[in-house]
Order: sequence, then C-alpha cells, then structure tokens
Amino acid sequence: MADRFAIGLYSGGLDSTLALNLVQRLGFKVVAVHFTTPFTVNLYGKKKKKLKKNGFIFKKLFLGKEYIELLKNPKYGYGKNFNPCVDCHIMMIKKAKSLMEEYGADFVFTGEVLGERPMSQRKDTLRIVERESGLEGRLLRPLSAKLLSETIPEKEGIIDRNKLFAIKGRSRKEQFKLAEEMGIMDFPHPAGGCPLTEENIAKRVEESLKHNEDTIFDMILLRLGRHLRLPGGEKLVSGRNEEENNLLLRLTRNKGIKLSVKDYSSTYLYLRDANDEDTIKEAGRVCARYSSVKNKESVEVYYWNKDIEKRKIIKVKPYSEEEVENLLI
Ligand code: SF4
Repeated sequence: MADRFAIGLYSGGLDSTLALNLVQRLGFKVVAVHFTTPFTVNLYGKKKKKLKKNGFIFKKLFLGKEYIELLKNPKYGYGKNFNPCVDCHIMMIKKAKSLMEEYGADFVFTGEVLGERPMSQRKDTLRIVERESGLEGRLLRPLSAKLLSETIPEKEGIIDRNKLFAIKGRSRKEQFKLAEEMGIMDFPHPAGGCPLTEENIAKRVEESLKHNEDTIFDMILLRLGRHLRLPGGEKLVSGRNEEENNLLLRLTRNKGIKLSVKDYSSTYLYLRDANDEDTIKEAGRVCARYSSVKNKESVEVYYWNKDIEKRKIIKVKPYSEEEVENLLI
C-alpha cells in the first residue's frame, strides 16, 4: 500500500514533538515543517537540540517580508504584546496546506492544546484558523482532538479517534506522562518563546514600524543589543557585551556606519542610515558613553562604512548618562 502523508507543524517544543510521534504511530509518513520568522531565526548559530530523524521528513520555511506585512495589520489583532498569534497561525497553516498538496497528504496537524494559550488556543480561535486557512475538516490537533469536532480523516476512518487525546489547559502534566509512555525521554525544550510576546521587543517593533524601518534586516536587529533614536530620527544599535558586539559587526558588515572608541574598550555601534558628519558625531557621543573613557572631556571614535581598514576618526564629548537614557527606545 502506498504511503499516506500528513504535514505537521514543528515548533521545537514538547507538544509538537508529541504530535509528530503520535501521527507517525498512526501509520502516516510525517512531514515536519519548522517555520522561522525574522524574530525567531537563529542569530548566534548555536545548535538547538534537534528532533531525531526517526523517519520524519524535515522542512524549514522562513517567513520574511510577508510576515512583516502581516505584523503591521493583523486581521485578528495582537495578543498581550505585539504577537499576532491567530494571523501567524493562519499564515503557517496555509503554507503547510500547500505542502499538503505537494505531498498528496491527507491532513495538516499541530501540537496545539486547547486552553494552553489564552489567545490562539481557544476553541473559537482554533476554528477561525481552520476556516481561514482553507483547511476545514483537514486540520487535526491530535493532543486535544477528542474535545474538538471530528475531522474528515477521522470520519473516513483513516484515523482512529480512540487513539487521539483530550488534553486541555495549561498544566503540562499529561504531556509529560504521554512523553514517558511513548518513550520520548529526550524531548526538546520549548524554543525559548517568541520575542514578539516580550514587552521590550514589542515596543521596539512598534517604534521601528512607525519610522518605516521595516526590512527583514531591521526586524532581525530588534532582538539584539540596545536601540536608540537620535534627535534627528536616526536609528542606532549598540551591543551590550562581547557576543552581541561580534554579532552586530558580522550582521552589519555591508550596512550603515559602524563606530567604536579608539584605543579603549567600548561597544560597537551601528548607525542605520546617515552619512553626514553631525549625525556621525552624535552617534560617536553615544559610543563614547558606552566605553571605558565615558567620563573624559574628549574621546576619539573610529567610524567606518564597509571597510574597517578605511576607518576615520572623530573627536567627541561623551553624552551624559541621562542624555543617553533619553535616547533609548
Ligand atoms: S507566539 Fe509568535 S510565533 Fe507563536 S503564534 Fe504567536 S506570533 Fe506566531
């Protein structure tokens, strides 16, 4: 008999790991799709614990510009911060639906648990996502399926409803128990959450969009370092430690102006889009403030564009602590 396929969303956490294993045990060839966005893409290149191959087919999909457009005006609004969870799910499930067509799969499934998240995992929002993604009857949530309407694959008998679950709520006890029963001892831990649910990141995203700084690169940088806005409206990003400074340098290699204090330890600073000397001096004053010579009257600051070998020097008076505080976003 030919393989039957199912497409599963894989976030990297326990719920989706359980769902993938459950559906596989029901006899399906599982395509595990992992989505990233500018807010979740791995910046540091640190390896996350990977789900063991175990016969799953892996797909990674990046949601870039279209995700940023969604973020600006989500039909179903935001959660507690800048997280458009319902629209975000709809987008991901629509993409999964197109894979369903590609593989001739019978359904799409997720590891969602009824009532586990206040906005996106209520019964009404689960139904909205199903309807809006065009997957009515073909979107299975195996962990909570017995609490939800029967799906087409269940009605057709290709899935035995008795083998699905009725898990609900925020306690994860049942999931841990199930993981143990299924012998999934080494499951990955949740992938550190979505930055859009964090208050400080939400504030930055909103501020950045207001200034029409909405490229994929702008959004990626929002997770990094300190963000400041100069009085003239220019954006500055500064690393807070060595790891961030190195990453900032690497990411901005071909972009904007970079600054660092000459001969003393300081932050690296990225000035988004300005070339005039006055603005570079202002940025230099911030850079000098974030250095070991912040109390000097005059500090020499390097600045360069693409080629660090061609860096130039400006002399500036460091901003006071209060002045820099006022520039922070
Ligand atoms: S928490 Fe973030 S990634 Fe998850 S659904 Fe909400 S917006 Fe999307």
